[in-house]
Amino acid sequence: MEDHTPTYVTASNLLTDISQLEPFDVVGFDADHTLVKYNVVALSKMIDDCHLKTIVKDCDGYPHNISDMFDEELSHFPFNGATFDMNTSLLVKISEDKRVMVAYKGFTKLNENEIENIYGKDRIFHKEYDVWNYRSLDKGYIGFHTYFDTSSVTLCAKLMELKLQGAINKTNEEIINDIITCVTSCYANYNEERCYRIADFGYFFPEVVRNTDKYIQKREDFRDILKQLKELDKKLFIATNSHAEYTDLIMTRSIGEDWKSFFDFIASNCGKPAFFDKIEDTQKFYRCDYNSPTLKGKKCEVDDLEDTHIYLEGNCKDLENYFKKLVGKEEINVAFFGDHFITDAALSDLHENWKGITIMEELNHEQMKQEEESQLLNYQKYWGSFFGGEINKVWYKNAWVKFAEGHSSFVLPLMKDLGRLLIK
Ligand SMILES: [Mg+2]
Repeated sequence: MEDHTPTYVTASNLLTDISQLEPFDVVGFDADHTLVKYNVVALSKMIDDCHLKTIVKDCDGYPHNISDMFDEELSHFPFNGATFDMNTSLLVKISEDKRVMVAYKGFTKLNENEIENIYGKDRIFHKEYDVWNYRSLDKGYIGFHTYFDTSSVTLCAKLMELKLQGAINKTNEEIINDIITCVTSCYANYNEERCYRIADFGYFFPEVVRNTDKYIQKREDFRDILKQLKELDKKLFIATNSHAEYTDLIMTRSIGEDWKSFFDFIASNCGKPAFFDKIEDTQKFYRCDYNSPTLKGKKCEVDDLEDTHIYLEGNCKDLENYFKKLVGKEEINVAFFGDHFITDAALSDLHENWKGITIMEELNHEQMKQEEESQLLNYQKYWGSFFGGEINKVWYKNAWVKFAEGHSSFVLPLMKDLGRLLIK
């Protein structure tokens, strides 16, 4: 059968053969959107709803009927890597050479002339823009990345619409700060003093607890992948920013009740990027202890770490030293899979003997032969391809695709593709 996949829907460093994983003694995974496959359409609609309820509750000056003011279909608006330019009030898609490819004022798309009138003939977004610093409020822009964060793109567009209509009276800085407050209120179920049970915290967690099956796929094939990796003598671990109780909920749904038995180490609330980049001033691992208000139990040195506990916080060097002991080697090679291009793939890839592997779900989504389980948003109708776009008939690659090619060792569309490689 003819393959209709456009040639630009690719990454130059695709993981194509399981032999590429041969050098690795240890294979690690992020949880959300990596070992845990969400139904992104249902998730996006639900997060939109949570955001609107939260912003009305926690921030001043927003209309109480905000939830009724917009079409549900706008849940498809989020684009991975979209950036809000606080100076121009526009949401933009940026090319590898910093050009504005697509721009929105609220939900109104700008035409080519309008973009050139604002950014000049060459359409350069910001000379200093780079993906590493995609959230640079001091420079006047903030990007949104991964399918939790990109729901803020819809929220941002809705708030800009309200501002244009005169329904709210806020500066762009105030709006962005309110969005940050709202997102923190939705997901940060812990502080220095205590960790809140997810069933009682905010709107997002209780809804996932109530309707786990609606938002998260049960994946027998992921169990098989983990089993096969173990048969290949790989040691396995999880390093997720999700806190312990939520990790247990989502992994139980995805892998099964016995999910912990597949792993030689589990780090939750591990605080990436610090987990990978604050190595000099390291955060130590703590044993998860549900009798402690913060869930933080014993603080552990490498010699204290065991596969029988779940840990919080920690850092990748202690993790590496733990695995050196477990494997019985002075040097080990580690591969780490994750959907965050920076805090999972690029930062792990910077360490000697570590290879970061980017999960790029858009690769699967934009292939013509859609797999049944592809559940990504229909973002293309607003933003075009994730992989790039044309400006005056010249093709430009998306900055984020270029980044994943340059700063991670491999790119993989979805975890299930690893299963396919293992069978080959
Ligand atoms: Mg993730």
